[in-house]
Amino acid sequence: MKPQRQISVGIFSAPAVRMHFLQAVTCAGCRYEGRYEARWQAGKILFDGQLRDEWVFTPVATPTEGFSPAVFDLSDVVIGVDFHWQRKEVQRFAGALKLIVEGERITAVNLIGIEDYLRSVISSEMKATASPEFLKAHAVISRSWLLAQIERRGKVPVGRPEFVETEDTLIRWADREDHLHFDVCADDHCQRYQGLSRLRATRADEAVLATWGQVLTLDGALCDTRFSKCCGGMTERFSTCWENRDYPYLAPVADRPADGGPDFCDTADEAVLSQVLNDYDLETKDFYRWRVAYDRHALAELIRRRSGIDFGDEIRALEPLERGASGRIWLLRIVGSQRTMTVGKELTIRRWLSESHLKSSAFEVSQEGDRLVLTGRGWGHGVGLCQIGAAVMGHRGYPYTAILAHYFPGSELSVQ
Ligand SMILES: [Zn+2]
Ligand SMILES: [Zn+2]
Repeated sequence: MKPQRQISVGIFSAPAVRMHFLQAVTCAGCRYEGRYEARWQAGKILFDGQLRDEWVFTPVATPTEGFSPAVFDLSDVVIGVDFHWQRKEVQRFAGALKLIVEGERITAVNLIGIEDYLRSVISSEMKATASPEFLKAHAVISRSWLLAQIERRGKVPVGRPEFVETEDTLIRWADREDHLHFDVCADDHCQRYQGLSRLRATRADEAVLATWGQVLTLDGALCDTRFSKCCGGMTERFSTCWENRDYPYLAPVADRPADGGPDFCDTADEAVLSQVLNDYDLETKDFYRWRVAYDRHALAELIRRRSGIDFGDEIRALEPLERGASGRIWLLRIVGSQRTMTVGKELTIRRWLSESHLKSSAFEVSQEGDRLVLTGRGWGHGVGLCQIGAAVMGHRGYPYTAILAHYFPGSELSVQ
């Protein structure tokens, strides 16, 4: 078996971390097995009676061939942080555990091989019943995306020169460089990762094994293969969501067969949706087209709470100023009774206009009496692969290479 590249994944942050070492681990010459707790104390981590800046617990056993075995459990891991679903659970992990201090909390970081990580990501994001070709396509883009992020790390200009923060304009976005101390986080912000906890999909394992090391490239460079739940009919440009630049392989794509027909992601087929969405995602089925109505006063209060900015006691208008190829708004003027402000990009807009996250920023605004109605399409940023669309393609028998060629035009499959 080829050796796996090691990556670091931020799992969660809390004042205390409860862990259960299922097999012996070592740290600074000591050996631990069983249940322990670490606590944040005066800027350090208290564990086993000692205060340190960081702790790294490495399995004693030598690595096995192929995928790695379980090493530890973490309790009270919050998943879906800040999204419209949220819950706590015990999660199980392979690899090593690193505890670091971030602010007044401890962050648990999992040090793990990339193929072990992908196996988990694929099985967390999708159900075991997903078609093999869809899973293989996802394995390739998850791997490419991750390596592209790691490659990019440290190359992004410090201080965010493209952010705009003035009295009447606020343009910013969230991306990978938010993480200083690890490669990726375990949440939807990067890719949902739940360790070994949801590993019930042998097909996910097969997809990772069948595509071991495969990535998408363009002219020899790794592709930054973004993906989201549902494009809504057309995929979006990179610059609508992140920095002001675009990539040829992320050119907007009409999400339908070359010879016409309905959009791939325009499906209500339970058999397909249940392949892609976890139970808690299935709670929300109106992703291709959706509608939200707000009372003007309630909306002012919501935006004040979400943004910290007081627009007055009512929102008079939401005016889309700039849209991307899919219709996603990246610049929105919010007209309040006391203040008017222009805001972007798409994620900031989605955060401000919902208790958790608005499904997408591809919406039209209309007035119904004292209410503002948002009629939208798609779920997520819409850039790159559309997961629902790709699942439909896989279900219809397209090979994974065709799925990748559809969403990432001009890219090539290479082995790293
Ligand atoms: Zn992240
Ligand atoms: Zn789509």
